[in-house]
Amino acid sequence: IKSIGVLTSGGDAPGMNAAIRAVVRACIYNDLRVFGVMRGYQGLIDNDIEELHSNSVSNIIQSGGTILKSARSMEFKTQEGREKAYDNLRKRDIDALVVIGGDGTFTGARIFGQEHNFPIVGIPGTIDNDLYGTDYTIGYDTALNTVVEAVDKIRDTATAHSRLFFIEVMGRDAGFLALRSGIASGAEAVLVPEVRTDFDQLEHFLQNGFKKNKTSSIVLVAEGDEIGGAIKIADKVGKEHPEYDVRVTILGHIQRGGSPSAFDRVSASRMGLSAVEALMDDQKSIMIGLANNQIVHTPFNQALKNKKALNPQLLEMTKILSI
Ligand code: ATP
Repeated sequence: IKSIGVLTSGGDAPGMNAAIRAVVRACIYNDLRVFGVMRGYQGLIDNDIEELHSNSVSNIIQSGGTILKSARSMEFKTQEGREKAYDNLRKRDIDALVVIGGDGTFTGARIFGQEHNFPIVGIPGTIDNDLYGTDYTIGYDTALNTVVEAVDKIRDTATAHSRLFFIEVMGRDAGFLALRSGIASGAEAVLVPEVRTDFDQLEHFLQNGFKKNKTSSIVLVAEGDEIGGAIKIADKVGKEHPEYDVRVTILGHIQRGGSPSAFDRVSASRMGLSAVEALMDDQKSIMIGLANNQIVHTPFNQALKNKKALNPQLLEMTKILSI
């Protein structure tokens, strides 16, 4: 391998820049050329590719977003689109790719890698932390801290008015962010897509809390919970209990932004370096991950086939600690 391309795809996540920086510097350290592909797979198709140098990635480790920009590319889902992408890679003599993104990104990488026998290594970048084969995805820790900071602020005003707040956090299919931020912010209850919403139990918690004169209640709701988000749940609870002063906050895209935490920067740096080393070691179609603080490799097939489970002990803990 003489030349590597790097791209970010799918939803952006804080820490992606730290990963790009690590990929670029690791390539240069190892005398490889490195190219940045703009806007994910769409940039491969549009030939929006430029060579990167050590100073191309100066001063970016602390910034959120991604200097390479991200996009969702419908064209890459077609064989013709992928042919164009392959031709552009060949023209530039790029002979391997590092892709930073979520499961959609790895699905595309797996198909492209097989179709063209092209070496690709993935780095998990998503605030959802929903990828099998890694304890942490890049961006998750930063998003977690952003949510906790926001919930703390809402708690102040909730307490001043004895209100019941339903706070919606990101997580279409996974409740990792809701669960951990719920524990860290002392939420009264957490509703996640992985578990059926038990209204009787929710009632029990809320009534108990108000009986004991809790001055505020906060319920964290993952956007993908089975009822359909915080607004619908708040509506239902508010109708059944006109005596509660119910409010809803949807945290939205603030969860995606901001300067990455030290943890995300370090994880991203480790994964970026390991991705380049894996390609130099002739590996392909694998995702780099962190398990028990060690770098691990998981084939795309496995990472995509398996679903990462929420830690049942943490789920149980939210119930015990909110009595
Ligand atoms: P997030 O977890 O933040 O949503 P993601 O990587 O899962 O990130 P997607 O939008 O699902 O985000 O996928 C990113 C891109 O990967 C898509 O825009 C598309 O270009 C490519 N991709 C996804 N699925 C396929 C597929 N089946 N075939 C080819 N390319 C795909």
